Amino acid sequence: MPSDEPLTAEHVLEFPGGYTRTTGPVIGRFLTELRAGRLVGVRTAEGRVLVPPLEYDPATGEPVTGEYVEVGPAGTVTACAWVPEPLDGHPLDRPFAWALIKLDGADTALVHAVDAGNPKAVAAGTRVWPVWRGERTGHITDLSCFAPEVTKIVSPVRSAYTLRAGGALGVFLEGIGRGVFVGGRCGGCGKVYVPYRLSCPECGLRIAERTELPGTGTVTTFAINNLPDPRAPEVPFVSAYILLDGADVPMIALVGGVPAHEVRHGMRVRAVWVPEDERTPSMASVRWFAPTGEPDVELS
Ligand SMILES: [Zn+2]
Repeated sequence: MPSDEPLTAEHVLEFPGGYTRTTGPVIGRFLTELRAGRLVGVRTAEGRVLVPPLEYDPATGEPVTGEYVEVGPAGTVTACAWVPEPLDGHPLDRPFAWALIKLDGADTALVHAVDAGNPKAVAAGTRVWPVWRGERTGHITDLSCFAPEVTKIVSPVRSAYTLRAGGALGVFLEGIGRGVFVGGRCGGCGKVYVPYRLSCPECGLRIAERTELPGTGTVTTFAINNLPDPRAPEVPFVSAYILLDGADVPMIALVGGVPAHEVRHGMRVRAVWVPEDERTPSMASVRWFAPTGEPDVELS
């Protein structure tokens, strides 16, 4: 039956076991040096160093000198293209960059893969170092890839210490353990400080009178935090200065039970305590402050 479709047939060209060819003296030297873990170029009659080496200078057509020069091992990326989805046959099975890399001491750049992790980690000017294959055979793949120079490290930091609460803080935390906020009232100016303290920063008098404050207050200022904190339930979380009713200075605490973006200045809040049998003389006994639902307070 006649058809408009052209006649086609599918073919595969393949050399089982691979196609063997000789390298010639120049590429052969380059690959032999690779097997030994070295990178070499060849010097041209004009004194330039070609990497990878060629038998003829592409600029002049003249044969190269036969003088081999060790280059690198580090180099500088002169141009690159990010490969977000590697294909079969690519040197890496994760996203990487193809880059033109000018090895130190070379006058030309070679193409190779840079294992940079993310596209922002490689650009023209990035310094890179070779990553060698464990067992080298004298093939370009003896160079697994290049990797950006190490410019930063992450060190685990942890220090454990015991903080002794001292007199005033001890009084306050003992109150927290009982589910109350203990403040101190200055006999001179009448100001109420919470947490409880031993002397008045206004008039310098020693504070003798303790007062227990309710668990309600008003948010005076707050911050939305986007870094995780073991004391906070999730990210983002809100830490706030809360002026407890009857106090003259605010105290810092978490705000919860409300989306971070709904927290406002002047919002009325109430302390949410952990269950009574879990309370200890520590701020962990106050889970956070949650909105009471009362109208906002106008802050001066
Ligand atoms: Zn005072």
